[in-house]
Amino acid sequence: MQNLTVLGTGVLGSQIIFQAAYSGKQVVAYDLSDEILGKLAERWEYLKPLYLRDLPDATPEKLDAAVARIRTSSDLADALADADLVIEAVPERLDIKQSTWERVGELAPAKTIFATNSSTLLPSDIAPFTGRPEKFLALHFANEVWKFNVGEVMGHEGTDPAVFEAVAQFAEEIGMVPIRIHKEQPGYVLNSLLVPFLNAGARLLVRGVATPEDIDKTWKIATGAPTGPFEIYDVVGMMTPYQLGASSEDPEMQEFAAHIKREYIDKGWLGKGAGRGFYDY
Ligand code: NAD
Repeated sequence: MQNLTVLGTGVLGSQIIFQAAYSGKQVVAYDLSDEILGKLAERWEYLKPLYLRDLPDATPEKLDAAVARIRTSSDLADALADADLVIEAVPERLDIKQSTWERVGELAPAKTIFATNSSTLLPSDIAPFTGRPEKFLALHFANEVWKFNVGEVMGHEGTDPAVFEAVAQFAEEIGMVPIRIHKEQPGYVLNSLLVPFLNAGARLLVRGVATPEDIDKTWKIATGAPTGPFEIYDVVGMMTPYQLGASSEDPEMQEFAAHIKREYIDKGWLGKGAGRGFYDY
């Protein structure tokens, strides 16, 4: 599959676009307006130094060649006209995913395979809206795709096994390590492990068992892991755990949300990206 169209050019969409183009694919970037798409040039300039820092074989010439393989379009029919594969990275709301896939199902050529990058929805939640459920599945990336390069491939019961394999192969071609998930699982493999781990850290904190530093230290020294839960919270940023905790029914997770709002968010300490979170960077 050589021609990729990515729907949504935000945090993850822009990374997928750039990574695929860097790996030699022709990529069309689709978003709601030309104004939004106009900001991508800046985004490529932001990503280039990170590739040079993190990937030993990256060169300025290769990065310029990647940008040259990207075309933008705010016209969905035009964006889909020659797509072998569509990866959807629009906001994590079922109504937005649903209406997007309904339109894509009507406009895309018969050959096109459909994949969602949704973190929390299941492929079977979305498949009925696509008009071609047998060609629909999830390909889930981790933030900073060039470095944390897993591609979790997860179908639903009606996904054609040949489509599943084609997408796993595509993931490999764009530098991901494909993870074949054999059964629908909320959170895939990664978040099925990570979310309970992070919640366990939060519970130790709100129970007053130990400080974030000592919780992280324990985990790192005793297991050899490079980061503890609070260092991971800082990378994720405070807003996601705050929103999840605030809407949780679990009193300890609500207390954690109130704690991070009072001690961090209200002070502008939103995590590593803001220069300060649980740690000062
Ligand atoms: P984001 O808010 O940064 O970007 C969403 C983009 O979609 C924006 O550019 C927006 O203009 C565009 N958009 C909105 N409505 C649209 C529509 N109808 N059609 C086309 N584009 C539309 O979001 P994100 O963080 O990049 O997340 C996108 C998807 O990727 C979500 O499903 C999320 O679960 C998943 N994901 C995110 C992460 C992460 O760390 N941020 C990691 C893995 C997967």
